[in-house]
Amino acid sequence: MKKIDVEHIFMNYHSLKSETEAIKDISFSLQQGEFLSIVGPSGCGKSTLLNIICGLIKPSQGNIYIDGKKLSGLTSKIGYMFQKDHLFEWLTVFDNVRIGLKIQHKLTKEANEKIEELLENYKLQDFKNYHPSELSGGMRQRVALIRTLALNPEVLLLDEPFSALDYQSRLSASDDIFEIIKQENKTAIMVTHDISEAISMSSRVIVLSKRPAKIVKDVNIDFSDDSLTPLYRRENPKFREYFDIIWKELELK
Ligand code: ADP
Ligand code: MG
Repeated sequence: MKKIDVEHIFMNYHSLKSETEAIKDISFSLQQGEFLSIVGPSGCGKSTLLNIICGLIKPSQGNIYIDGKKLSGLTSKIGYMFQKDHLFEWLTVFDNVRIGLKIQHKLTKEANEKIEELLENYKLQDFKNYHPSELSGGMRQRVALIRTLALNPEVLLLDEPFSALDYQSRLSASDDIFEIIKQENKTAIMVTHDISEAISMSSRVIVLSKRPAKIVKDVNIDFSDDSLTPLYRRENPKFREYFDIIWKELELK
């Protein structure tokens, strides 16, 4: 069975004066453990699609299935990481990563242990009592991801997670985030407008057209060597080939 099925999604936004057609018939399925990136021009409907997949907004037509079960509204099976990290500045790192569980009254002994383990594994244990303003942009994104993982979602959605970072931090943050998602064996869907980022992190890239978004290309990414980190993938000869295939499909004009 597929982890997630996206079936014939259409989305039109309505206002008093106009109608915006954002998504036109998008379908795809993901296996457990796949890392899908979705690339497309700015404003084509990428965030709309993620918001539909997590149940935040209802599509005009179509359905989402998780493990074969139709999705209706928000579910704890899906974790969402936004463009901005939305960390609470007045809380410590430790309290930030526990906030979701606390709200859900699920801050059990096991949950606390899991959080300690995540902080330890992903090099944040020493910064537990720091406040977000004392951390680098890349570390903040790591805290945001751990906060999402603390809720133990089965599928992770990431909406341009590195766009607020400078180029150098972006590269190291994508290595870190890639490593965490792989270690935790999560199924992930990342939206980005950066082709290199998509190829360096994913097992598959879907290219969307200009608005209304349709799938124009679905590319499997295979570097033969599964142990390659995103940074090393960028230096592999296959990287350029994938880049050219995807670049040609993107309507950036
Ligand atoms: P992307 O994430 O690819 O940049 P979005 O999904 O944010 O694109 O937006 C796709 C289109 O839908 C844009 O034209 C945007 O203006 C429009 N849109 C997004 N959200 C709304 C909304 N809540 N109401 C009306 N139009 C919207
Ligand atoms: Mg967006």
